[in-house]
Amino acid sequence: MTQQQPQQQLLPCPFCGTVPRMTGPWEIGTSDTYEAVVECPGCEAQISRQAASRNTVQKAVEEIWNVRSQAPEKALQRQMDDMALLMRRLVQSLNKAAPGHERAKAALDYLKRHGLQGNPLRTTTQEQST
Ligand SMILES: [Zn+2]
Repeated sequence: MTQQQPQQQLLPCPFCGTVPRMTGPWEIGTSDTYEAVVECPGCEAQISRQAASRNTVQKAVEEIWNVRSQAPEKALQRQMDDMALLMRRLVQSLNKAAPGHERAKAALDYLKRHGLQGNPLRTTTQEQST
Protein backbone atom coordinates (compact mmCIF):
# COMPACT_ATOMS: atom_id res chain seq x y z
CA MET A 1 0.00 0.00 0.00
CA THR A 2 1.54 3.24 -1.10
CA GLN A 3 0.36 6.42 0.48
CA GLN A 4 2.18 8.79 -1.76
CA GLN A 5 -0.05 10.12 -4.42
CA PRO A 6 1.23 13.50 -5.46
CA GLN A 7 -1.52 14.06 -7.96
CA GLN A 8 -5.05 12.92 -8.01
CA GLN A 9 -5.56 10.33 -10.68
CA LEU A 10 -8.47 10.17 -13.00
CA LEU A 11 -10.51 7.02 -12.53
CA PRO A 12 -11.58 4.98 -15.54
CA CYS A 13 -14.71 5.99 -17.42
CA PRO A 14 -17.89 4.91 -15.57
CA PHE A 15 -19.54 3.92 -18.83
CA CYS A 16 -16.87 1.99 -20.74
CA GLY A 17 -13.81 1.72 -18.45
CA THR A 18 -11.41 3.58 -20.73
CA VAL A 19 -8.74 5.78 -19.16
CA PRO A 20 -9.87 9.37 -19.64
CA ARG A 21 -7.75 12.37 -20.53
CA MET A 22 -7.86 15.95 -19.44
CA THR A 23 -7.65 18.91 -21.73
CA GLY A 24 -7.09 22.42 -20.52
CA PRO A 25 -7.22 24.41 -18.46
CA TRP A 26 -7.47 27.30 -20.84
CA GLU A 27 -8.63 30.83 -20.28
CA ILE A 28 -12.02 31.77 -21.55
CA GLY A 29 -11.87 35.09 -23.29
CA THR A 30 -10.44 37.76 -21.03
CA SER A 31 -12.73 37.06 -18.11
CA ASP A 32 -10.19 35.49 -15.72
CA THR A 33 -12.16 32.28 -15.98
CA TYR A 34 -10.56 28.97 -16.82
CA GLU A 35 -12.11 25.83 -18.19
CA ALA A 36 -10.90 22.24 -18.12
CA VAL A 37 -12.46 19.14 -19.64
CA VAL A 38 -12.10 15.46 -18.79
CA GLU A 39 -13.04 13.33 -21.71
CA CYS A 40 -13.24 9.62 -22.43
CA PRO A 41 -11.66 8.65 -25.75
CA GLY A 42 -13.67 5.42 -25.69
CA CYS A 43 -17.25 6.69 -25.58
CA GLU A 44 -16.83 10.48 -25.65
CA ALA A 45 -18.36 10.95 -22.22
CA GLN A 46 -17.14 14.25 -20.90
CA ILE A 47 -17.42 16.66 -18.08
CA SER A 48 -16.20 20.22 -17.82
CA ARG A 49 -15.78 22.83 -15.14
CA GLN A 50 -14.98 26.50 -14.99
CA ALA A 51 -13.21 28.32 -12.21
CA ALA A 52 -11.21 31.45 -11.49
CA SER A 53 -7.78 29.80 -11.51
CA ARG A 54 -5.96 27.08 -13.42
CA ASN A 55 -5.28 25.00 -10.31
CA THR A 56 -8.81 25.23 -8.99
CA VAL A 57 -10.41 24.27 -12.25
CA GLN A 58 -8.10 21.31 -12.72
CA LYS A 59 -8.86 19.94 -9.25
CA ALA A 60 -12.57 20.63 -9.61
CA VAL A 61 -12.93 18.76 -12.87
CA GLU A 62 -10.85 15.82 -11.57
CA GLU A 63 -13.00 15.59 -8.46
CA ILE A 64 -16.29 15.71 -10.30
CA TRP A 65 -15.12 13.10 -12.80
CA ASN A 66 -13.95 10.75 -10.06
CA VAL A 67 -17.18 11.10 -8.07
CA ARG A 68 -19.07 10.09 -11.16
CA SER A 69 -16.74 7.17 -11.80
CA GLN A 70 -17.41 5.75 -8.37
CA ALA A 71 -21.16 6.06 -8.65
CA PRO A 72 -21.77 2.66 -10.31
CA GLU A 73 -19.87 0.88 -7.53
CA LYS A 74 -21.94 2.61 -4.87
CA ALA A 75 -25.14 1.75 -6.69
CA LEU A 76 -24.03 -1.87 -6.89
CA GLN A 77 -23.24 -1.88 -3.17
CA ARG A 78 -26.71 -0.54 -2.39
CA GLN A 79 -28.24 -3.26 -4.53
CA MET A 80 -26.20 -5.89 -2.69
CA ASP A 81 -27.32 -4.53 0.66
CA ASP A 82 -30.95 -4.57 -0.44
CA MET A 83 -30.70 -8.13 -1.73
CA ALA A 84 -29.00 -9.31 1.46
CA LEU A 85 -31.77 -7.71 3.51
CA LEU A 86 -34.42 -9.36 1.35
CA MET A 87 -32.65 -12.69 1.70
CA ARG A 88 -32.54 -12.39 5.49
CA ARG A 89 -36.28 -11.70 5.54
CA LEU A 90 -36.95 -14.67 3.28
CA VAL A 91 -34.87 -16.87 5.58
CA GLN A 92 -36.89 -15.66 8.58
CA SER A 93 -40.16 -16.40 6.79
CA LEU A 94 -38.96 -19.79 5.65
CA ASN A 95 -37.80 -20.62 9.17
CA LYS A 96 -41.30 -19.84 10.46
CA ALA A 97 -43.07 -21.79 7.76
CA ALA A 98 -40.69 -24.74 7.67
CA PRO A 99 -38.37 -24.73 10.69
CA GLY A 100 -34.91 -26.14 10.02
CA HIS A 101 -35.29 -26.05 6.26
CA GLU A 102 -32.03 -26.75 4.43
CA ARG A 103 -32.39 -23.85 2.05
CA ALA A 104 -32.69 -21.42 4.95
CA LYS A 105 -29.49 -22.81 6.47
CA ALA A 106 -27.68 -22.63 3.15
CA ALA A 107 -28.80 -19.05 2.61
CA LEU A 108 -27.69 -18.02 6.12
CA ASP A 109 -24.33 -19.74 5.57
CA TYR A 110 -23.89 -17.84 2.36
CA LEU A 111 -24.70 -14.51 4.02
CA LYS A 112 -22.25 -15.21 6.85
CA ARG A 113 -19.47 -16.27 4.52
CA HIS A 114 -19.81 -13.02 2.61
CA GLY A 115 -20.21 -10.79 5.65
CA LEU A 116 -23.82 -9.98 4.81
CA GLN A 117 -25.56 -11.48 7.82
CA GLY A 118 -26.67 -8.16 9.19
CA ASN A 119 -25.91 -4.52 8.93
CA PRO A 120 -26.84 -2.69 12.14
CA LEU A 121 -25.50 0.59 10.88
CA ARG A 122 -27.25 0.93 7.64
CA THR A 123 -25.81 4.13 6.31
CA THR A 124 -27.89 6.69 4.60
CA THR A 125 -26.37 7.75 1.38
CA GLN A 126 -26.55 11.27 0.24
CA GLU A 127 -27.55 11.64 -3.32
CA GLN A 128 -25.44 14.04 -5.27
CA SER A 129 -27.13 15.60 -8.17
CA THR A 130 -25.00 16.75 -11.01
ZN1 LIG B 1 -16.13 5.94 -21.77
